[in-house]
Amino acid sequence: MKKFMDEHFLLHTETAQELYHEHAAPMPIFDYHCHLSPKEIAEDKSYENLSQIWLHGDHYKWRAMRSNGVDERYCTGDASDWEKFEKWAETVPYTLRNPLYHWTHLELKRFFDVDLLLSPKTAREVWEQCNEKLTSGSFSCRDIISKAKVDTICTTDDPIDSLEYHQAIREDDFETAVLPAWRPDKAMMVEQTEAFNDYLDQLAEVANIEIDSFDALLVALDKRHEFFHENGCRLSDHGLDTAYADDYSMKDIHAIFDKVRSLKNLNETEIRKFKSCMLYEFGMMDHARGWTQQYHIGAQRNNSTRLFKKLGPDTGFDSIGDLPVAASLAKMLDRLDQNNKLTKTVLYNLNPRDNELYATMIGNFQDGSCPGKIQYGSGWWFLDQKDGMEKQLNALSNLGLLSRFVGMLTDSRSFLSYTRHEYFRRTLCNLLGTDVERGELPNDPELLGKLVRDISFWNAKNYFDFE
Ligand SMILES: [Zn+2]
Repeated sequence: MKKFMDEHFLLHTETAQELYHEHAAPMPIFDYHCHLSPKEIAEDKSYENLSQIWLHGDHYKWRAMRSNGVDERYCTGDASDWEKFEKWAETVPYTLRNPLYHWTHLELKRFFDVDLLLSPKTAREVWEQCNEKLTSGSFSCRDIISKAKVDTICTTDDPIDSLEYHQAIREDDFETAVLPAWRPDKAMMVEQTEAFNDYLDQLAEVANIEIDSFDALLVALDKRHEFFHENGCRLSDHGLDTAYADDYSMKDIHAIFDKVRSLKNLNETEIRKFKSCMLYEFGMMDHARGWTQQYHIGAQRNNSTRLFKKLGPDTGFDSIGDLPVAASLAKMLDRLDQNNKLTKTVLYNLNPRDNELYATMIGNFQDGSCPGKIQYGSGWWFLDQKDGMEKQLNALSNLGLLSRFVGMLTDSRSFLSYTRHEYFRRTLCNLLGTDVERGELPNDPELLGKLVRDISFWNAKNYFDFE
């Protein structure tokens, strides 16, 4: 029997172990999509205890705690940090076979040298050992980033963000590049009439332009896009329930804009047309400045009205959606491509039903201008565990070029999530090692070692080409 989570964790063949330890493990991390707070990095925040760095803001853990019967008071409520941790420790033994069980113990091991299995029995000891480290003066968020050998971080930022924290980090000469990424979801959320108008008022203020027409909206957004570019941004991201590519005329769009700007609710057709137009315009901006665009497609968000009202978005009440996507996604990309305006693109899907659909979709728009111009992004959100990663890697291998894949990202809100790269790299090496030992891939350490180093780091580093 193998030992639980030893040095060969997830590596079931000798070839897999060699590939991981010699080629994957030494590579730095290129984390091109996450939700870390640039403010916390700028202020080099330290944490008083494990709950603050581990439980505050982690909707994966809250979801597991709720499923285990834990009251909301201990997830997002006013319980003390120790009480919240105690409830998490009670929950962990019930997370067996959920990736949380692996992530939890990898994070304890890698960052805190804690080898104990977290449970009510060990809770106090784990709490004290970790808190001692956290308050030692060498465990700030920048210390953690450096310990994890992170080369580059791209955060997720709204067009109205001042980027003051990114500027402050750059002035500090922190050895990890911390770059903004442009996420303009709120600028196309026309189904929420009031919120959309409030947002436009804020955008008008930061862009210093009155937004009284659709053209003025585009000017304001382009000004902010340029400002992001000046601050090192080369990457956009869109969270979409599905792709939008309805036909529209500019006359339609002007009328739709005027209607929603005068606080009248839009109908379904108008909403779809507006979103279709915005996605095209955002794609044009990204192409004009040579950025890469990312589309995260397929989440069905805020399903519990009661808890959305109480806690707001991103609190653990989202799930996998099943809207059709193939025709609209192809049309959305084709529209840009027909005008030679399709920039480098990464597509992420949330419904595993669609893995092969996405893996083939990317092949439609490769144009030989750079390797892997259109990427099928790594297993995302509900799919970023071993099973989801293997399915994504297999779909991409079967239908595209695995060797050109830009690899993993954390997509996390916690500084302790860098072990997800380790988890991904082990899973990748295990797939390759198994193939070698079965005689399905050549036993060529040079060829396979390069593949592993490329997917772990170099493909992303070269593809995104940040300055
Ligand atoms: Zn994300």
